[in-house]
Amino acid sequence: MAVDPVIVDEESKILVAPLQFLMNWARGHSMWPLTFGTACCAIEMMTVGSARYDTERYGIFFRNSPRQADCMIIAGTINLKIAPRVKLLYEQMSLPKYVIAMGSCAVSGGPFADGYNVVQGVDQIIPVDIYVPGCPPRPEALMNALLMVMERNSAGELSAAEVFAAEHRALGVSE
Ligand code: SF4
Repeated sequence: MAVDPVIVDEESKILVAPLQFLMNWARGHSMWPLTFGTACCAIEMMTVGSARYDTERYGIFFRNSPRQADCMIIAGTINLKIAPRVKLLYEQMSLPKYVIAMGSCAVSGGPFADGYNVVQGVDQIIPVDIYVPGCPPRPEALMNALLMVMERNSAGELSAAEVFAAEHRALGVSE
């Protein structure tokens, strides 16, 4: 939900902001992606974590535990064997959480879409916020996706996971 602060006094720069505004602001300036990759796109994701891109200046810190992460970057092919593990890691992350499908394998199965063992897009098993096309996408494309998620957070938009959970509640389905 988008909430604007109220400027009480221009001269003394007093700003009164609802808690929701401050929460949106914090969510929009912090993103902790899970260190997790399943195929060659992960090499590009690792490059984003390198000094060249300096993601820390945006508040982006890669984490090793799903319990500390709020963003899952699906970097690589998802086959039927690893799909339950991907879902388990996703479920171990607490809300609000975000998913970026990086590369054509994660988006739609990519060059292996005809394979008997390949999931045809990670959105078949978990809700996705941003799709990044390419085989592989450049690190700049992933950076752009991370910044897009953070911008949406600042604007107070719900993540795909929150929309999914709200729809399930409305339908009376247990999560
Ligand atoms: S999209 Fe291309 S680079 Fe990325 S995991 Fe699939 S085959 Fe590898």
